[in-house]
Amino acid sequence: MRNVLPWREPAPAAGTMGEPLTRGRFGAYGGRYAPESLVEACRQVDEAFREAWADPGFRGALARLLAVHAGRPTPLTPARRLSEALGVELYLKREDLTHTGSHKINNVLGQALLATRMGRRRLIAETGAGQHGVATATAAALLGLEATVFMGERDIERQALNVFRMRMLGAEVVPVTTGSRTLKDATSEAMRHWVGATGDSHYCIGSVVGPDPYPWLVREFQRVIGDEARAQCAAELPAGVPDHVVACVGGGSNAAGTFAGFADTPARLVGVEAEGGAGAARGRLGVLHGSRSLFLQDDDGQIVEAHSVAAGLDYPGVGPEHAHLRDLGRARYVTVTDDEAIAAAVRLARTEGILPALESAHALAWVIRAAGDGELAAGSTVLMTLSGRGDKDVSTLKELL
Ligand SMILES: *Cc1c(COP(=O)(O)O)cnc(C)c1O
Repeated sequence: MRNVLPWREPAPAAGTMGEPLTRGRFGAYGGRYAPESLVEACRQVDEAFREAWADPGFRGALARLLAVHAGRPTPLTPARRLSEALGVELYLKREDLTHTGSHKINNVLGQALLATRMGRRRLIAETGAGQHGVATATAAALLGLEATVFMGERDIERQALNVFRMRMLGAEVVPVTTGSRTLKDATSEAMRHWVGATGDSHYCIGSVVGPDPYPWLVREFQRVIGDEARAQCAAELPAGVPDHVVACVGGGSNAAGTFAGFADTPARLVGVEAEGGAGAARGRLGVLHGSRSLFLQDDDGQIVEAHSVAAGLDYPGVGPEHAHLRDLGRARYVTVTDDEAIAAAVRLARTEGILPALESAHALAWVIRAAGDGELAAGSTVLMTLSGRGDKDVSTLKELL
């Protein structure tokens, strides 16, 4: 894709986790690297989103959908037995309790409502394991929209149950046969398809990635996690604000939404990546899927495929705002292995009666490790976003345990 927006030196930094700078830049990252027809489509999404986000009517309609359909607000659960064992005070923000079982519903309900406001009748989405595809199909059914979901052929084979779910919900699932036949190629294909369908379709991207305004727009739709958690911490924690705020990072949407609620507090922000998908911790500067960010690359600058037992963390890059937060030192990015995540999932199930998604188990695995090696001081308070429930992972776990 041609870079149609000439790069300029960044203007002075905006307030942390505020609105991005002109042209959707977060420091040196972000931007709108897309073919001309998509640049215009992105501009329209940007304009519609700004207008909608400033409209109390839109905000109210979204808040109501989140309440009556998705089950918000989600609780803040103290993990009592595990906290005692670890010597820290661990609180879980329960996105696993939302309808469809993960935080993805927050973003898709926002985007589906925005699409309706823009007069679009169809949602286009990419999906890896199928979680974002199922959430998009759900939102489309709820609002009477069509949904077309691009999914790599290999993922279709591996995730047959979610493919069936999407079809049950009335969505069309389009197999992608190019490249690695997984999420990266499904995303490229969805964007390519949008080029020819911008008039009647909205591209509903699943994380804080892609061309401007998506990284910002998705973070704003996910900030409900952080805003709720901030108020819940204020009511329930003696200090009002936790010492640490922890979330797993694939593209980075549940982490960005969580961090947004605490960016202006002294809380330390920690993003936990999969060892085999560590875009923020180990990526190099590059451009993919419409934005400039950190991606896993080989010596020739080719994107390297990510590998993780958690399908939602199987993305070779990270959203541009996380790259910026890393550079600023405002957030720290760490990695855990598949084995650590699996052990953490089992431990949470047995101590708290909660089987987490393997993605969320990565965040917990870091908390367990950091409490053990003293990186988390005894008695410190930790807020961790539990991004999703583990039902989708039982067959994976059954094979591995
Ligand atoms: C998709 C997914 C993730 C990763 O996506 P982010 O955009 O990084 O939040 C994490 N947890 C669950 C349960 C998911 O479904």
